[in-house]
Amino acid sequence: MKAPVLEANHMTVCYDKKPAVWEASMSVPAGCLAGIIGPNGAGKSTFLKAVLGIIPRTSGSVSFFGEPYKKVKQRVAYVPQRESVDWDYPISAREVVLMGLYKSIGLFRRKTKEHVLQAEEALDRVGMLDYAGRQIGELSGGQQQRVFLARALVQKADLYMMDEPFAGIDATTEKVILELMQELKQNGSTVLCVHHDLPTVADYFDHLSLLNLHVVASGPIDEVFTKEQLMKCYGGRLELLTKLTESLGRLEALKA
Ligand code: ADP
Repeated sequence: MKAPVLEANHMTVCYDKKPAVWEASMSVPAGCLAGIIGPNGAGKSTFLKAVLGIIPRTSGSVSFFGEPYKKVKQRVAYVPQRESVDWDYPISAREVVLMGLYKSIGLFRRKTKEHVLQAEEALDRVGMLDYAGRQIGELSGGQQQRVFLARALVQKADLYMMDEPFAGIDATTEKVILELMQELKQNGSTVLCVHHDLPTVADYFDHLSLLNLHVVASGPIDEVFTKEQLMKCYGGRLELLTKLTESLGRLEALKA
C-alpha cells in the first residue's frame, strides 16, 4: 500500500506559548481531493504552514510520502492564502510562475527558454497567458489566484497544498480551480485544500478533516461530513445550521 501523502502525528503549534493547533493527527491518502474545514481562527492556515515547516512545530511529527519533508520537498507545492501576499511587489505574472521553478532551477542559476515556456504553459492552463507580462498587483483577486496556481503547477508536484483558493474569487476562477483540481487528481496527484464554504464541501472533496484547535474528525467525506461531526467542530450556531442543512442535503443528493 502507498504511504499517505501527508501524515501528521500529535502535532502542536504555538504562538507565544499559546497553542493554535493542539495534538493534531491527520493522514491524507494518495490520490484524493482532501479538504480541511473549521471555524475562523481554528488553526487551519497554521496547520498547513507548520506541516511544511514554514512556522515551527512545538511537538509532534510530520511525514510526506513516508519521508521527512526535506527529502521530498520537490514533490510538494504550496499555494498560500492570497491575503498573505504583498501584491505591491513589482513583478509580472510570468515571473511569479517562474518562481515556482526555483526549487528545481536553483535560486542563482539562469532560467532558460525552456523554463519560460513551462511557465507560459502553466499560465495557459489557468487561462492567464494573455496576462503573462502584467504586473501582479494590477490583476483582479481571481486572476492573482490563478497565477498562484500556475506557480504551483510548474512544480509538477505529487501533492498540492492550497490555503483557501476559493476565497474572494469570481465564478470563472472558481470553475478553473475546480477543474484543475479534478484534473490533478485524475493524473494521480493529491490536493489538500483549506476551505471555508460549507455548501460546496460535498461537491469538491472526497476526503475531509474537521479542525478546531484539534482534529475533530478526519476521513472519507461521507463518514466525516455529518451533522453530528460538524456540530462537534462548529458548535451549535444557528446561522450555521441553516447552511449545514443545505450542504447535507447536497451530500444526500450525491449519494442517491
Ligand atoms: P484559520 O486559518 O483556521 O482561520 P489561523 O491558523 O490563521 O486560523 O489562526 C489560528 C489562531 O492563531 C488564531 O487565534 C490566530 O489569531 C492565531 N494566529 C495566527 N497567526 C498568528 C501569528 N503570526 N501570531 C500570533 N497568533 C497568530
